[in-house]
Amino acid sequence: MNLILFGPPAAGKGTQAKRLLESRRMVQLSTGDMLRAAIASGSELGQRVQGIMQRGELVSDEIVVALIEERLPEAEAAGGAIFDGFPRTIAQAQALDLMLKGRGKRINLVVRLRVDDPALVERVAGRFAESGRADDNPESFKVRLAAYNAQTAPLLPYYQAQGNLIEVDGMGSIDAVAQAIDKALDAAHG
Ligand code: ADP
Repeated sequence: MNLILFGPPAAGKGTQAKRLLESRRMVQLSTGDMLRAAIASGSELGQRVQGIMQRGELVSDEIVVALIEERLPEAEAAGGAIFDGFPRTIAQAQALDLMLKGRGKRINLVVRLRVDDPALVERVAGRFAESGRADDNPESFKVRLAAYNAQTAPLLPYYQAQGNLIEVDGMGSIDAVAQAIDKALDAAHG
C-alpha cells in the first residue's frame, strides 16, 4: 500500500503520517524531514538546500527524487510508504510513478487534506512561536503557499485522472482527521 498525504504547507500531513505509522505497517517518507536532517548534519547537500528552504522555495526535483529513490526498498520491505510533502511538482509525480512501476508497485491512494488559507496562516504562526522553524516566518510562509498553488496544486487533476484521489476535511481535530483517513484507507484496501 502506497499512500500520498497531499495538501498545502502546514495542513497536518506530518502529524497524520506519524499517527498512521502507529496503526499501519508503513514507512513515512517525508522529503522535508530528510532535507532538514541533511541541513542538521552539515552535509554538502544540506548546505546546498538550506537557503532555498529558508526562503520557502522548492528544492530541485532532482534532489528530492534521489532522496525518495534511496528509501523505496526500505518502504517496500515494510509494506508500503506514506509520502509526506512529496511529490510537489508534476515532474516529481511522474518520476515517482516511474520508480514505483519499475518495482511492480503504484500509488494506491492520494488523500488530500483540505484546509483554508486563513487557518494555515494561523497554524503556522503558532508553530513558529513554538518551534521557531526557520521557514515558518510569515514572509517565507507566503512563498511556500504560493509555491503550493503554482506548482503543487496542479497535481490534483493529475491524481484525479488516475482515479485514486480522495478528499478529507483537514479543518477538524487531529483525531477526526485521523479517523477520516483511516476510513479511506480501509475502503481502498477492501
Ligand atoms: P510543509 O509541508 O510544512 O511545507 P515540508 O517539511 O514538507 O513542510 O517542506 C519544507 C520545505 O522543504 C519546503 O518548503 C521546500 O523548500 C522543501 N521541500 C520539501 N519537500 C520538497 C519537495 N518534494 N520538492 C521540493 N522541495 C521540497
